[in-house]
Amino acid sequence: MKLTVLGCLGAYPYKGQGTTGYLLESGGFHLLLDAGSTTLVQLEKIIDPLKLDAVILSHYHHDHIADLGVLQYYWQLYPTTEEKPLLPIYGHTLDEFHFNDLTLPGVTEGRPYFETKQLELGPFSVTFMKTIHPVVCYAMRFVENSTGKVFVFTGDSGYLEDFQEFAKDADLFLADTYLFAGNERHKAHFTSKESGELAKKANTKKLVLTHLPQHGDLQKLKAEAEAAADHQLPVELAEVGKTFEI
Ligand code: ZN
Repeated sequence: MKLTVLGCLGAYPYKGQGTTGYLLESGGFHLLLDAGSTTLVQLEKIIDPLKLDAVILSHYHHDHIADLGVLQYYWQLYPTTEEKPLLPIYGHTLDEFHFNDLTLPGVTEGRPYFETKQLELGPFSVTFMKTIHPVVCYAMRFVENSTGKVFVFTGDSGYLEDFQEFAKDADLFLADTYLFAGNERHKAHFTSKESGELAKKANTKKLVLTHLPQHGDLQKLKAEAEAAADHQLPVELAEVGKTFEI
């Protein structure tokens, strides 16, 4: 599978870079993972947005759904002679207002996922874990069925020991790392130190830091995560347009 970064800042866009959004592809299946600000314009550079097969959302904070409404309009209004199928948008149901917004009749269809139930989504089997965050948010573990490769996305989360099991042996661990070391046990996000520690404890093969802060030295953030992982696995910073073969 291939992961492409469409946006990787936390909270708000800054100097041309947008907030959380990724394209996850496998065998011709195109999944949009979160839809933060500028997601749609970045997506257009890579594929025709009408080629998306599904969207899945970790939670309903603005920096993860800012472009969802305009994506729905794109599907509704883009002139084409081809018939457009309904675009499925997967989200949790514990926030009824936002879940209901995933459905635009005749255009997109909100579909629920549940922490207790594995979701079969195209070429992926997906499992979920509720994170530590001010609103309900889920981390996701994607297994590519054809290869057994594993990609884990933390969503947004404060430190949670359960990631040690949830991210176990992941080929790529994409971790919310909004904070520099020294701010541990925050209520909403990992620090660089926590990302590195969890990546190592879970025996992941590669750590990618995302949901990055706008201010401060990102090389320092990366070095802190590398040190916390005892330099036992590669650590990279997410960057718009960067791709990862998993
Ligand atoms: Zn959030």
